[in-house]
Amino acid sequence: MAPTTTDKIKGLICRECGKTYPPVSLHVCDMCFGPLEVQYNYEAIKSRISRKTIEAGPKSLWRYIDLLPIQGEPTVGLYAGLTPLIRAKNLGDELGLDKLYIKNDTVNHPTLSFKDRVVSVALTRALELGYDTVACASTGNLANSVAAHAAAAKMQCYVFIPHDLEASKVLGNLVYRPNVVEVEGNYDDVNRLCSEIAGERKWAFVNVNIRPYYAEGSKTLAYEVVEQLGWIAPDQIVIPMASGSLLTKIWKGLNEFHKLGLIDGLTTKVHGAQAEGCSPISAAYKQGRDFFKPVKPNTIAKSLAIGNPADGYYALKATAESGGAMDSVTDEEIVEGMMLLAQTEGVFAETAGGVTIGVLKKLVKQGVIKRTDTTVALITGNGLKTQEAVMHAVGRPTRISPSLAQFLKTFNLDKHER
Ligand SMILES: *Cc1c(COP(=O)(O)O)cnc(C)c1O
Repeated sequence: MAPTTTDKIKGLICRECGKTYPPVSLHVCDMCFGPLEVQYNYEAIKSRISRKTIEAGPKSLWRYIDLLPIQGEPTVGLYAGLTPLIRAKNLGDELGLDKLYIKNDTVNHPTLSFKDRVVSVALTRALELGYDTVACASTGNLANSVAAHAAAAKMQCYVFIPHDLEASKVLGNLVYRPNVVEVEGNYDDVNRLCSEIAGERKWAFVNVNIRPYYAEGSKTLAYEVVEQLGWIAPDQIVIPMASGSLLTKIWKGLNEFHKLGLIDGLTTKVHGAQAEGCSPISAAYKQGRDFFKPVKPNTIAKSLAIGNPADGYYALKATAESGGAMDSVTDEEIVEGMMLLAQTEGVFAETAGGVTIGVLKKLVKQGVIKRTDTTVALITGNGLKTQEAVMHAVGRPTRISPSLAQFLKTFNLDKHER
């Protein structure tokens, strides 16, 4: 399929100078080096989209296909998205919130993180643009999702990861048999290398040369939250940040629903969450700057460990526009957040989830989020992938011999109660 404009996609537009391009594989403006994003024809979309058409769509993120940057039908990732929105009463009681919800992307299909959304869109688009090889620079979850989807789509695949990832995230690449490249450096080194390779090879690097399409997949988290709340935008959303892309796209998605008349008003505040050991964006927020200073990451939240975040500036802008806030938490608070979520709601999230819960707790304490606000926390990855983080905190099973007497004695139970 040739990359032409359609009635829904106008093309790409530079976020800085506004120069427009056809919808090809390009991510940087050749005039001003600003990042490009997909531009839609909202008039055309408005005439064919409604709450009813969406509700009648597939039980996946593809129910929002009219707002996703592909020309034809989806071909990759047909089952991603539409994860549960959990009414988190127990955690709400604990934190002092009457209407708390957890958006549970720990059970996304097929690789248990929010990255299954962006990859479904990116690989479908990559095939439309004629690529047979996909690649990515990843902090872990993206590589897992690209590797799994590439296997199912029979595409050649190279994933690039830092050398110090969690064991499950490394294994979660190898099992699909892509080329797994472990780089002696941090994510920012991996990303720089991938930009160089992307200039050299005709490969679809999902978060480099086809980043404008990839990033749009994140909007579906916002769409789902709104639909699952009964077509109401929440008062508050707390969002983990790595490159800051997810946060900017949540804000874009909410604004699109408002523009299309799918929600009545938009007063949602979007809040950004980072780990203290890698908090260039939230540090800028706290110091009142609209630009960030790159850092060297040092945190257990490896999925969020991007020291030079590509969308940091835009995340700060979106948060400010919405009237939201940002904060960060220590590694200790991350583990506390993971344990609290598991023990109140039965959801085992990865370190990024601990970041979100930790920052949510802080924002409630600070009075930024009020008891009566409808509040949503985005839980973006699965705890089984970052077991190292909680290993020291979970204790051991109680070991006994296979004897009734020993069992009763160990747990101080009466022999006859029934
Ligand atoms: C990638 C990722 C994010 C957010 O990433 P952005 O680069 O900010 O879009 C959040 N949580 C998890 C678990 C991730 O893997």
